[in-house]
Amino acid sequence: MADPTVAGLASVHGCIGAVDPVRTFGDQEQKQRYLPKLASGERLSAFALTEPGAGSDLTALTTRAALDGDNYVVNGEKLFITNVVPGRTVGLVCLIDDKPAVLVCDLPDEENESFQLRKYGLWALKHTYNQGIIFKDFRVPRQNLLEPKKGNGLTIAYHGLNLGRISLCANAAGTMRLMMASMVPWAKFRVTYGAEIGTRELVQRRLGRLAGLVVAADALVHWCSTLIDAGYRGEMECIIDKIFGSEAQKEAAIELFMKTHGGRSFLHGHMLGDHVHEYLAPCIYEGEGEMLGMAFFKSLVKQHGTTFFEPIGKALAKLGVKQPNPLNPAHAWALKGPLWDYGKWYFGEKFGSRPSPKLPSMSANLRAHAEWAAAKLQKSSMEISDTMRKHQLKLADRQCRMSELSGRVQSLIVVLCTSLYGARQGDELIRDAADVICSDLRRQYHCHRIKDSELRIATELGTKIVDGGVRSFTEVVPDDILMSYDK
Ligand SMILES: Cc1cc2nc3c(=O)[nH]c(=O)nc-3n(C[C@H](O)[C@H](O)[C@H](O)COP(=O)(O)OP(=O)(O)OC[C@H]3O[C@@H](n4cnc5c(N)ncnc54)[C@H](O)[C@@H]3O)c2cc1C
Repeated sequence: MADPTVAGLASVHGCIGAVDPVRTFGDQEQKQRYLPKLASGERLSAFALTEPGAGSDLTALTTRAALDGDNYVVNGEKLFITNVVPGRTVGLVCLIDDKPAVLVCDLPDEENESFQLRKYGLWALKHTYNQGIIFKDFRVPRQNLLEPKKGNGLTIAYHGLNLGRISLCANAAGTMRLMMASMVPWAKFRVTYGAEIGTRELVQRRLGRLAGLVVAADALVHWCSTLIDAGYRGEMECIIDKIFGSEAQKEAAIELFMKTHGGRSFLHGHMLGDHVHEYLAPCIYEGEGEMLGMAFFKSLVKQHGTTFFEPIGKALAKLGVKQPNPLNPAHAWALKGPLWDYGKWYFGEKFGSRPSPKLPSMSANLRAHAEWAAAKLQKSSMEISDTMRKHQLKLADRQCRMSELSGRVQSLIVVLCTSLYGARQGDELIRDAADVICSDLRRQYHCHRIKDSELRIATELGTKIVDGGVRSFTEVVPDDILMSYDK
């Protein structure tokens, strides 16, 4: 909240920049050489992955490094690199012997023939440096190569990105709190048709929803960072953080914050007018949300596909057919094993009893959300398996369906996580906010209209926020009103 730009810069430096790659994948000598300088801030760092021809598609990377004596010689171009200026340290993803690798590069203090920056105007991240880098026969000592025990340079990149995705969500939670803090004094100041807008349901609902987004983002950050601290890789979980955090911040900025501030949103000096690109760009950086949603889905179905569908595919391939003929005994014989295995799983899921989740003590409304999410998550295995059976190998091309299913599973996880997190909070308003967002997500999942009772809960929360409850979410509440006037 104190400064989202500095928080973002620290995230780039500490998560995706050189700190995490060296700390996690460096050898003792590399750690001793780099970590003290990186920790003290003597050297700030960046991570250079994206190229003009390779953003979403990392198989298209073309920056290369070739060993020449004691140095790697790097050639290629990077684009959109945050935190990069001469004199900083960069975790550079490049191809070495056609495989992605990471070199830790100390950039010279000035541009020269082998290292140049490509500058451009960029609306987002206005307060940090974001530039392209051009390397021409740029030499990096061979001892700066990071060598992971498993995987390659992309393993290193994804490890840092996981952390970056959690901190992106944390940053979104902080930024949304700033939005709330600025909405409340305005809602109390602005009078239309004889009443403060803060007494109107539309504005109250926005504040209630915003509180829900803040608490859900907090819940996800708490959950994922706990997993990371416990030693899990958390790749899929961190994707949920990143997608939820960035989408929540976008919605908060445009649907809740901008609409409530009206025309003043576009004044110079207004948070929205001055920072709107900052609120949108997280949907793109560290991976565009829908692309990540598909990656999440592919990870989700991988084991099911390998266990049950791959053996069926192999049996069909042996028979030389694409579709089995149930009347052909040879087909039935060849498929009996894999079909039996799948059938056992299928009927077990369909008719077997499901363990009910062991939930801690929690209020009835939050318990209902958690139980609903747990039950739906268990059932989603059938929904996903049916989709895999229907589309088979063409599923990879059914992007819209993958994205939709992925979104459904993610929203169940957000509900489960938020209801459990909410239940642990002592502050009643935080629990109410968890209830509001869980109800919203449940309704969206079922494509239901909102009930009067649900509207009442959200608007009552909004009313409490206007009447001082904002301090449950943020201690700092500024009182400046742009273009104030004598009422
Ligand atoms: C402010 C900012 C800061 C950044 N900081 C860094 C940084 O520090 N380091 C770094 O390495 N990178 C950084 N990036 C780059 C960022 O990670 C990429 O922009 C992002 O990964 C998307 O890549 P792209 O822009 O090349 O999109 P493209 O690859 O051009 O894709 C554009 C869109 O096309 C669609 N699309 C692409 N492929 C497919 C497909 N197969 N199927 C369906 N749809 C598809 C998706 O919607 C995608 O978002 C930054 C970007 C921004 C905007």
